[in-house]
Order: sequence, then structure tokens, then C-alpha cells
Amino acid sequence: MLTSGAVAAPVDMQAIVDAVNTVVGAAPRPVHLHEPRFAGNEQKYVAKCIEDGWVSSAGPHVGEFERKLAEACGTKAAIAIVNGTAALHAALHMHGVGLGDEVILPALTFIATANAVSYCGAIPHFVDIEADHLGIDVAALERHLRGVVDIERGVAINRETKRAIKACVPVHVFGHPVDMDALNRVCAAFGIPVVEDATESLGSLYRGRPCGGLGHAGVLSFNGNKIVTTGGGGAVVTNDVEWAARAKHLTTTAKQPHRWAFIHDEMGWNYRMPNINAALGVAQLEQLDGFVAAKRRLAARYAEVFDRIEGARFVMEPPGTASNYWLNAIVLDDDSGAARDALLETTHAAGLLTRPAWTPMHLLPMFTSAPRADLSVTESIHRRLVNLPSSAALGMT
Ligand SMILES: *Cc1c(COP(=O)(O)O)cnc(C)c1O
Repeated sequence: MLTSGAVAAPVDMQAIVDAVNTVVGAAPRPVHLHEPRFAGNEQKYVAKCIEDGWVSSAGPHVGEFERKLAEACGTKAAIAIVNGTAALHAALHMHGVGLGDEVILPALTFIATANAVSYCGAIPHFVDIEADHLGIDVAALERHLRGVVDIERGVAINRETKRAIKACVPVHVFGHPVDMDALNRVCAAFGIPVVEDATESLGSLYRGRPCGGLGHAGVLSFNGNKIVTTGGGGAVVTNDVEWAARAKHLTTTAKQPHRWAFIHDEMGWNYRMPNINAALGVAQLEQLDGFVAAKRRLAARYAEVFDRIEGARFVMEPPGTASNYWLNAIVLDDDSGAARDALLETTHAAGLLTRPAWTPMHLLPMFTSAPRADLSVTESIHRRLVNLPSSAALGMT
């Protein structure tokens, strides 16, 4: 990264377009950011749902999808949910996040992470990321918590707002694992439970362990743009089997099993994944290893071409991890925002559908007054980052 005051060398836009063109090769234009791939048993399993009439939440594919997902995440349990946002909402609620609480999350994430906090009546408390791999900066988090938190009766209290901090939600941005051992250690010291937002990191490994199974609970998403899709879908995964049973109960309208009576023993949600979506998901999970391999191959090609380009660096997996490289990204040296915008224009004109990073959460109108740490790295990365076409199919040839 440039020190402040240094002037970035102008980046050669055409060189970047050439580099991306080299990597994506003969793929038809426009080249989308991320397209799903249905090359397995998708048609067969979805057709079976329709033939058998099992299209809704009761049905055999849901259980099978959950078993396969738990296996992929290395967890004892997985509960399939309608989408990742709902899964985050349910997971936070079940960690006791409620009205007037705070939840720690990175300012650089998709809106769903922050919205799920709001759905609980809680307030997001934003922390910064580190520039190399884009996850929560754990050392900065620790300094921040030391500065603002008092522990009262085992609960972390924000000294400035007097609100309880009930959870921390690290996000494995673009598939790159956060330093979870360090994060778990810091959060445990403050009595803050960790819920992984692993929505982008199915198939990523941290020190040999799959993302999703690294905190108390993890959340997955199977939206159409994720590495594995169920159309729309999500899940919670955990090693805490009692918590998992409660998650299943609460997301199934908290209905007690009975042959006919409608007894709901607490407020619950209709959040379970329908069987027809799970059928798609089973077929997709059968291909997960192949998708990860293809995406890692694609990322290696990007890394190679960008190694020769001045003024831009390719975002790599952290040491000790194996990322699924869900979305590939480059970060420009130029911190003005103008170079990023010019690059978005130039690549789109060439039929390469690049994207900027999400607008940082604290810059959105709903969250401008939310508590936060210093967010200068988040803001700088936002002005410099561009995501590149990342579909698995691009890495299969
Ligand atoms: C995709 C995603 C989610 C969940 O999204 P849904 O579309 O609701 O499945 C949550 N957080 C992040 C960071 C995501 O990328």
C-alpha cells in the first residue's frame, strides 16, 4: 500500500483489459461476474421433486442436502434455510441478540450482514478490515474492544453507548478466510460469541478446516451468484447439536411435532428451505470440489498475469488457508476512486462485467450513526477494489 501523500503511478487500463481477456479467453461476451453452472444431476433431481409431489419443505432432498452440507463444513449439523439473510437473522436471534444490543461486524460486507442485525432490533458496530485479504483486522479489533468495552457480569458492554455487545460476525470476504483462531481468542476474552458469515466461503479452508465450522455457528448462502446455488437458499451449520435442534425448530414456525395439532411453543419463522431448492442444492454440492478446483485454477491465472502489471495487485488467499476464490479482485494503488471508476468503464466497454466493492455499511443512510472503530482501510479499499469475472466455468478449460 502507498504511504499517504505518495502519488500513485497512473495505471494502464488497456493492460488490465488485456490481462483479463487473456485469462477469460474465448468465453462469450459479455463475460458476467459470476454465473451458476448446472452440469450435474440438477435436472434429474428437480424433476424427481415434481414427479413425487415433494416440492415444499417436507421432502427427502432437504435432509440429504443438510447431511452433505454438514460434511462439507466439517460440522455435526446443518439446517437448510430459505436464504442467507434469514439464516443470519435466525442465528443472531439464537445467540440472544435482541432489542438495543450491538453486534460487531466488518464495514466491508454485503448489506445482508447488517440487515440481519437490524431485524433483531440490534445495532451494527462496525470494525475495520486488513488490506491484504479483506477480512476483519483482528489486531485492530482487539485494540478497539480494549478501548470501548467494559465487562459487566460476563457481558461485554460498550462504554460509550451502554449497550451489550452480543455477537461478532466475521465475513470471509470473497472466500478468503479470516484469521479465526486469533478472532475466536479475542472474542472469547470479551465473552462475545462468534457467528461466521461464511456465505461466500463454502469450500474454503482455514488451517485445513472448512469455513462455516470455525465459530459457534456459521451461516451459508446459496443465492444464484454463490459458488453453489439452490436458486435462493441459505443454511446454518454448527457443532452444537442442541443449538441446531433449536434452530430447526424455530425456523419451522416453532411447531411441535404432532399428527394433527398446531401447537407452536414460541415465536418462530417460516424459514425452512423448500425441497425443490434442496434438490438443486444436492446436485450442486456433488460438484463442489470441481467448482473449487476450477475457481482456484482461474485465480492462479489472474495472479500470474497481474504479477506483471504496475499499479494493481491481485487479492490472494491468506497464508495457511485455501480460499475458494469465490470472487476474484484487484486493488489499485490509486486511492482517488477515479481510477477505479475509469477501470469499471473500460472493462465494461470491453464486455468484461467487473464490479466495485460494496459501499461500506457505515456510508449507507441506515447506518451513518452506528457505532464504529476507525474504518480508514475499509474506505480506502472501497475506492480501489474491482471484482473480476469469476465463474467456475472460466477455470474449467
Ligand atoms: C450472499 C451473502 C449473504 C446472504 O445473502 P442471501 O442472498 O440472503 O442468501 C450474506 N452475507 C454476505 C457477505 C453475502 O455475500
